[in-house]
Amino acid sequence: MKLVDNCVFCKIIKGELPCCKLYEDDKIFVFLDIAPFNLGHALLIPKVHCHSITTLPKEYLDALIEKAPEIAAAVMHSTGADGFNLLLNNGSCAGQEVPHVHLHVIPRFTTDDNIYFAPKKKYDNDEEMNELADKIRSRLG
Ligand code: 5GP
Ligand code: ZN
Repeated sequence: MKLVDNCVFCKIIKGELPCCKLYEDDKIFVFLDIAPFNLGHALLIPKVHCHSITTLPKEYLDALIEKAPEIAAAVMHSTGADGFNLLLNNGSCAGQEVPHVHLHVIPRFTTDDNIYFAPKKKYDNDEEMNELADKIRSRLG
């Protein structure tokens, strides 16, 4: 089934829950996040229930990615933001709360707004970095 009953974003797509809609076509739905990091924070979601971007059918992924710059530009112009972050939390350990793929567009006005990732880590040495790169490359097509 494309959309499911027990998902908040599927309900929004179906019109069973209210939202502030920005855009919709046959593949994607775009609306304002109810608890924004900054005002104008938007969410792009595919019109198919899917937990992970790694299993999202390509036509939906393409539609999300293609629309994101236009949404981001509209949000920037409307809010006066200087830039934006595109964010996709995939998996609960990555902060994903809603198990329906969503791409955040977060307008940014300053670097002093307390929106940041934790301090960066370091590889112990080049060997550790190269070994991991080898492992990742071996799984790529
Ligand atoms: P995640 O943490 O899963 O990457 O992001 C989920 C986002 O969905 C959060 O930023 C949260 O504020 C937003 N959200 C959750 N429930 C609703 C809702 O019912 N309506 C809207 N507009 N946004 C929601
Ligand atoms: Zn869903």
